[in-house]
Amino acid sequence: MSSKRDYYEVLGLNKNATIDEIKKSYRSLAKKYHPDINKSADAEEKFKEINEAYEVLSDSDKRARYDQFGHSGLDPNAGGFGSGNPFEGFAAGFGGVDLGDIFSSFFGGSHERANARAFNNKPRKGQTIQSKLKITFIESVLGKTIEQKLTKYEICPHCQGSGAEDKNSEITCDQCQGRGQVNIHRRTPFGVVNSLSICNKCEGLGKIIKHKCSTCKGQRYVSKNVMTKIKIPAGIKNGQEIVVQGFGGPGVNGGPSGDLLIYILIEPHKYYVREQNNIHVDFLVSFIDIMNSAKVEVPTPYGNEFINLSNDIVSGDILTLKGKGFNIVGTKKYGDLKLHVRIYVPKLSKKEREKVAEILSDVKDHEAKDWIKKVNDNK
Ligand SMILES: [Zn+2]
Ligand SMILES: [Zn+2]
Repeated sequence: MSSKRDYYEVLGLNKNATIDEIKKSYRSLAKKYHPDINKSADAEEKFKEINEAYEVLSDSDKRARYDQFGHSGLDPNAGGFGSGNPFEGFAAGFGGVDLGDIFSSFFGGSHERANARAFNNKPRKGQTIQSKLKITFIESVLGKTIEQKLTKYEICPHCQGSGAEDKNSEITCDQCQGRGQVNIHRRTPFGVVNSLSICNKCEGLGKIIKHKCSTCKGQRYVSKNVMTKIKIPAGIKNGQEIVVQGFGGPGVNGGPSGDLLIYILIEPHKYYVREQNNIHVDFLVSFIDIMNSAKVEVPTPYGNEFINLSNDIVSGDILTLKGKGFNIVGTKKYGDLKLHVRIYVPKLSKKEREKVAEILSDVKDHEAKDWIKKVNDNK
């Protein structure tokens, strides 16, 4: 996983750079690496990197998030994951989690947020993060508990989510009187048009923060890694989802964190096949054991069992082991294990073959002949 370069480093600036310095550096670098002008092999890559860095650092909202949470504070789909990626631990600890499929971003686009804020600056729940987890067939039968460090966003304990250093640092916006919106009168050839618009002074929040909280840098939320138990119940089906509450994206305007949704993918088993809550498996039986009505061993996902064979079993018969299938989630009931009989002839030495042939030489067997007649009579 390639780690992304620091955006300030990309633009050759330090963290305190002013917006003018950012613009200036961007302009000169963009000119230098524009693929139409610069013909070196890595010019296009550099140009993209410069643009991405500028897009974030020139937007005060995105820049603040980047300063606080690093690359993980921005859209994880925007590129490779940096060292700040909150899912790295999850992925490293459990190879089945597909990072490419975490398609929710922690923070919506600033555009979408600004709109939502203008018309609703009430607390809202954070975004749902989706991910995938591959488990084995046997794990789906027996269930599984994963212990994993996950990133949890919480309301900043220092400012209680206000984003301000203290009470005196937060004042009501004088431009919109705290409403977050302003009335705009525009003269047009058709008369005066009134429209509501987001207050540009407070960006729709209705409040202005003079001194940002020193703990969360005004972001209202902080993140921490929490050891979490994720329980995958026995009997889970392919494609079912597990909700890990509170481990999604940070809340908005003081709202609670979103949830983490884990989509379960079950690897097929080489021998066992699921059908509703039953498990089917081919069952290899020696004809000698059938003749002897022997007690034989049967493999089940819960361990081996013994069953008594009756001597009239034929290939294709299905024997049922009650309760050795899948747990029916939420109940104490279980499906069955269905054994599809496949009779085999054991490999014998020459001596053994001769012995068996001698013993069986007197046996009169009409079954095959009768069967051929039955088939032919069915015209
Ligand atoms: Zn704070
Ligand atoms: Zn305002």
